[in-house]
Amino acid sequence: MGMACVAETWEDDSKGQFREMIHDEVDKWVDQLWEEFGEDRQPTLMELSDIFTRTRQKFLGSCLQTMIEQRYSDLLEQEYAPCPKCGKRCKRRRNNSKQMVTMQGPSSLKRPWFYCPACSYGFSPLDNVLEISRKKYQFDIQKKSVRTSSEVPFSQGSEIFKDLTGQSISNHFIHETFDEVGAPAYLEDVIPSAEEIGKRIKEASVGTWRPVLVVASDGAHLPTRPKAKRKEKRGKGSWQEAKGFRIYLLSKNRIIHVASWHQIQNEEQFGKDLSLVASRIPQDQVRVALLGDGADWLWKHMTTCFPKGRQVLDYYHCVEHIYKVAKAQYGEKSPKGLEWVESTICRLFFAEVGNVIAGLRRMQPKDTESSEEIRKLTGYLTNNRERIHYKGDRRGGYPIGSGGIESANKFICHTRMKRSGAWWVKETGNEMLRIRCAVYNGTYDNVFERYKKTNSRDACPQLC
Ligand SMILES: [Zn+2]
Repeated sequence: MGMACVAETWEDDSKGQFREMIHDEVDKWVDQLWEEFGEDRQPTLMELSDIFTRTRQKFLGSCLQTMIEQRYSDLLEQEYAPCPKCGKRCKRRRNNSKQMVTMQGPSSLKRPWFYCPACSYGFSPLDNVLEISRKKYQFDIQKKSVRTSSEVPFSQGSEIFKDLTGQSISNHFIHETFDEVGAPAYLEDVIPSAEEIGKRIKEASVGTWRPVLVVASDGAHLPTRPKAKRKEKRGKGSWQEAKGFRIYLLSKNRIIHVASWHQIQNEEQFGKDLSLVASRIPQDQVRVALLGDGADWLWKHMTTCFPKGRQVLDYYHCVEHIYKVAKAQYGEKSPKGLEWVESTICRLFFAEVGNVIAGLRRMQPKDTESSEEIRKLTGYLTNNRERIHYKGDRRGGYPIGSGGIESANKFICHTRMKRSGAWWVKETGNEMLRIRCAVYNGTYDNVFERYKKTNSRDACPQLC
């Protein structure tokens, strides 16, 4: 009881002190509000809200500054501080002023600055405590503006941001910050931790029933162009494949997302990335289903990373191939062609792949195009024979189509990446993909934290 009393008195003290300190700011704000509308005008709600939006920045920015001055008065008066590098006691050289802007508005900070001659290193201890950014616009603004630009083009992001928050930040600033956050956004941070994945598996488990964990891989083609130097003509654009995977859990009637990852990268790197994610998944607690479109390299990596996975040839890709033959052999949408498609799909559904292949071999090709399509389908089915068992998949609760990855692809790759006129430099495109994956995976906080650690004003050299 005694302790609580002491704490309360102290809190009341500092609270009262703060109240006292912002009194002037309140007065200034009130004056400003009154000045705007005089006594005789009857402002509408919208007009009132607008003036609050316009004027609160100055008011709240000053309040925030006052709170810092009150809370950290000891650090503001500090005469000596240990050097963060060698620990030697250093004397204050001078007070340094920093103009900064947070979501609340502009604040100014005058704090002691120390210099260690042995390390030739200048520092302000308060900057570490507050985690102040080297930039004028602080981490809270940086975090939200980068998040905004992961949804809309940079120029538009700056407009929307200003409209909603009253903060005018240039699209150049957003773009630059975006690059700095996106560059160190590694797979390790973008993919949820083993602990988090375990939680999601638990959520999907009902009784002793092990949930199905779907690993679906696919590619999406993105418009890219080579990096050009300033004033240099842009190079010729080309379409490059973003290889990616999505991992999700099938629970009773819903899908629980686990992880998405897409990058413009080669097959080898794709394999490395998939294996890192696989190492975070307790594979004995789930029944793994591997979904793919038939590309050999993809199966190679998926089966290496998930050796016990049930391999399922994506039903929709498979059907697409069948339609190609029908079109070439019987003509587009001809009744005979459709009938053949239907009976072929039906046979595949019952895993009668051998029969379908035998039927294809007996077919008399109409022309060379048809002959080529028949040859391709025969090869495709032969290669993927062991992966066609849709009826059994259905019965066991496994998926037969990768609707899941197609929608993730659409969400992650297409909506932001394929805007008309957008050509991506590979590096920037990959940064965008990483941040969008992080948002989708629920790991954007981790990604931003990594960036923040390396960009604080007096970032510890050991990054602790
Ligand atoms: Zn030192």
